[in-house]
Amino acid sequence: MERRVDELERIVIPKHIRRKLGLETRTKVAFETEGDRLIITKAFPTCIICGSEDKLVEVKDKHICTDCISIIK
Ligand SMILES: [Zn+2]
Repeated sequence: MERRVDELERIVIPKHIRRKLGLETRTKVAFETEGDRLIITKAFPTCIICGSEDKLVEVKDKHICTDCISIIK
């Protein structure tokens, strides 16, 4: 499957691929390049304060780890 980069330099990910990977609206993805390849990976949620991927609590669509929560308290 091929797609063109549009005038605003965007590429639409085909619907069947979004469905297959569970890429819903506002899902965060990570970009990497490998030679001339672009790799788009569904990103894991991270703490908005320290960047940790562990012990996350979701608060109003944001993730905060329990360590940062304990510092805030
Ligand atoms: Zn944290």
